[in-house]
Amino acid sequence: MRNLPAFLWAILSTAFAQQKPTGPLPAQRTRDTGALYRAITREVDVGASEDTVRIAVVGDLMCHSTQFQAAKTENGYDFRPAFQAVKPYLSSADLTFGNLETVTAGAVEKFTGYPTFNTPVEYLDALSDAGFDVLTTANNHSLDRRFIGVERTIEALEARGLMHTGTARTAEERARPLIVTIKGLRLGILAYTYGTNGIPMPQGKPFAVNLMDTLVMAGDIRTARAGGAEAIAVFLHWGLEYERLPNASQKAVAEFLARQEVSLVMGSHSHVLQPTSWIGAPGNGSFVIYSLGNFFSGQRRAYTDAGIILQLSLLRDRTTGKVRTGDVRFIPTYVSTLNGYKILPVADALEKAEALEASARSAIATDLIRMRAVWSETCTHLSDSATGILPYRDR
Ligand SMILES: [Zn+2]
Repeated sequence: MRNLPAFLWAILSTAFAQQKPTGPLPAQRTRDTGALYRAITREVDVGASEDTVRIAVVGDLMCHSTQFQAAKTENGYDFRPAFQAVKPYLSSADLTFGNLETVTAGAVEKFTGYPTFNTPVEYLDALSDAGFDVLTTANNHSLDRRFIGVERTIEALEARGLMHTGTARTAEERARPLIVTIKGLRLGILAYTYGTNGIPMPQGKPFAVNLMDTLVMAGDIRTARAGGAEAIAVFLHWGLEYERLPNASQKAVAEFLARQEVSLVMGSHSHVLQPTSWIGAPGNGSFVIYSLGNFFSGQRRAYTDAGIILQLSLLRDRTTGKVRTGDVRFIPTYVSTLNGYKILPVADALEKAEALEASARSAIATDLIRMRAVWSETCTHLSDSATGILPYRDR
């Protein structure tokens, strides 16, 4: 019964892979060639008047046991097919972010899903292949394999040229905030979590995971600015699971970060989307998304199968150096399980399905019904025409 949809989705996936995004993101992308850790400079063609950095952000990148079982191959694991349909959107941004909500501690630690995750390292190969540049590692699963998990995950990320922030192997590493220079803009990137599921910080290693603490965050922001950061993005793992609205504590922390003149406040952990907000004037204040939801997970309960790719630009005034935020858009996504796990951009997937023969469409009917609902749920929940936060395109 699964073979027919599998065949159809194979066709769709191929079509996705060949399609170039038609939206505001640039088609070209430059890759780092040198050493990648900490003060990172990416050489980009800085055109005559161009100083717009286009950013793509997704929420939680999880790996439940159903996901790695589906990715099993003869020789190991291959997660790349899951990202094939969203790769054009992820790889065309200047900087692409996600929250890695698992560790890669190696096979000797046994691969597991919920409640304590350890994921095959091929997952990181797929993230790199899909176009991710920076992964935040501070979340309630950072210590799922204790300190060895923190160390091995960072080693595996660096071996693949992936930047990271939120956990550290040494106090010295913790003390240096990640600053990425791209298209002339120096962006400081910080990440924190509310906790680690009751797993204590490793003995003598309070630096292992960044915990949310306003004094600590203010200090890190100052350090990043002293290190040259012209704009700051803070990623927070916070809030309550399955809640579609932010709570008072999230709002208070966001207000605090806005007072520190942070440009971007990016939340996750709830596994469902939570709304956006501008604190201060749209464009010049702080842009907040309380939760980016799940981007890739094995969860199927209400709203957890949907996510977004958030696109926005950081625009730097070349004279004053002042940075503002613009062009905020979101691309609703959905995780299909009809033929293995696949993250689908909903508008594209529905459009392609509409062009199919009726019999072919009926074979993927369950996905189509859910994706129509996801489109409506996500657009209703996140759109804000007053401040111009809208879906990437209409349907
Ligand atoms: Zn979480």
